Amino acid sequence: MERESHVSPPRAWAEIDGGALRHNLRVAADVWPVMAMMAVVKAGAYGHGLEDVARIFADAGVAFLGVANVGEARRIHRAGIRAAIYLLGATWSEEREEIVHHGWTPCISSLHEAADFNRLALLSGRPLAVHLAVDTGMGRGGFVAERLDEVMEELQRMNGLRVEGIGSHLPSADEDEPFTREQFRRFSSIIADLGGPGVFRWRHLANSAGLLGYDPLGCNLARPGLMLYGVSPLPAFQEKLRTVMSLKSRITLIRSLPAGHGVSYGRAFVTEKPTRVATIGMGYGDGYPRHVSGHGARVFVRGEYFPILGRVTMDQIMIDVTAAPDVAEGDEVELFGAHISVAEVAEKAETIPWHVFTGITPRVVRIYNGGGATSR
Ligand SMILES: *Cc1c(COP(=O)(O)O)cnc(C)c1O
Repeated sequence: MERESHVSPPRAWAEIDGGALRHNLRVAADVWPVMAMMAVVKAGAYGHGLEDVARIFADAGVAFLGVANVGEARRIHRAGIRAAIYLLGATWSEEREEIVHHGWTPCISSLHEAADFNRLALLSGRPLAVHLAVDTGMGRGGFVAERLDEVMEELQRMNGLRVEGIGSHLPSADEDEPFTREQFRRFSSIIADLGGPGVFRWRHLANSAGLLGYDPLGCNLARPGLMLYGVSPLPAFQEKLRTVMSLKSRITLIRSLPAGHGVSYGRAFVTEKPTRVATIGMGYGDGYPRHVSGHGARVFVRGEYFPILGRVTMDQIMIDVTAAPDVAEGDEVELFGAHISVAEVAEKAETIPWHVFTGITPRVVRIYNGGGATSR
C-alpha cells in the first residue's frame, strides 16, 4: 500500500483477500450446478467493504447482488457496478420511486406494496421485475402461504409488474434440519400450486446453510452470504472455504506488572504473579467484541497465542506475554484471521459470526489484497 509521508500506518486494520472471496464464491456455485448465485453483500458486505466486494462478485458474473436497502443499492450503482440488484427485505414507501427508477428488484410482501410499485412503474413507462416473497416460517416478510393463488392473480393483473421470481427464507437451516427439509418441500409445492417452475424464472430459498446442507428441490438461485466471507454455518463444510478477513493491530506498549495488580476496568483480572503485559491498539470501538472479556479469548502474535487479560476497552486490549520475552512493541497482532477463526471469537463473545463481522467499525482500515480492488 502506498503511503503519504508524515501519515502513520493504521493501528487497526482488516486485510481482505479478494482471491479468497472468489474462491468461496466458486465453492458456493459448485454445490449444485443448477443454482445461480445471488451474492449477499448487505451490511457493507458483512463488514468487508460494500463497493470493493460487490465489484469482485459482479466481475465474477453473479446473477444478483443482494442488499438490505436502497442506500446500499445506491452505493453499488454510484460505484459504477452494473449487476442486477435485489432488495432482500421489505421496502418503505418513500424508497420505491428510486427502486423503480433504477430497475432494482424488490421482493413483494403485500398487495399495497405491489400496487404502489405498479403505479410507479406505469408512470415510468417501464415494467418492473419483482419477486413474490413467501413466508414459509421466517415470520419477517412475505405473504403467508394460504392465499397465494389469489395474490398471484392480483399481481399478474398489475401491468406495471413482471413477477420474475419467488423467494422465501430459512430461519433455522443451521439449527433444525427436519424443519428446514420440510420448508424446502413446502416451498416446492407452493411453486407447483402456482403453476410450476416455468412460471418463475428465479426460485430461491437457500442462504449459506440452506445451500450447503440441503437438496435444492426445484430452486435455481441461492443467496449465500456468510460462506462467501469464509465462514461455514455448518462446520462440516468449513475446510472448503478460505479465510477472507484478517483483523489486525499492533502492540503499542509493554510493561511489567507486579503480582496483585488489577488489569482493565472493574479489575476483573488481578495478576497472581509478576506479569509482562502488552497493550494492543484496538478495542471494542473498532468492533472487536467486548463480550469476549473473561471468556478465555486469545490473540496471535509472532507465531503464538496469548490470552486477553481483563475487559476489552474501547481502544485498547491487554494480553499476557510473560511467556514470550521476544514479543516487542510494534509487533503485529491477529485478532482473528488465518490462526483464529471468527467463529471462535463469536463463540467467546456469545454471539454469531455475522454479528462480529458487521460490528467491525469504520475506524478499522480495510486493505484489499489480490482483489484487483483499490486499497484504502
Ligand atoms: C442475510 C440473508 C441471506 C444470507 O444469509 P447467510 O446465512 O449469511 O448466508 C440470505 N437471504 C436473506 C433473505 C437474507 O436476509
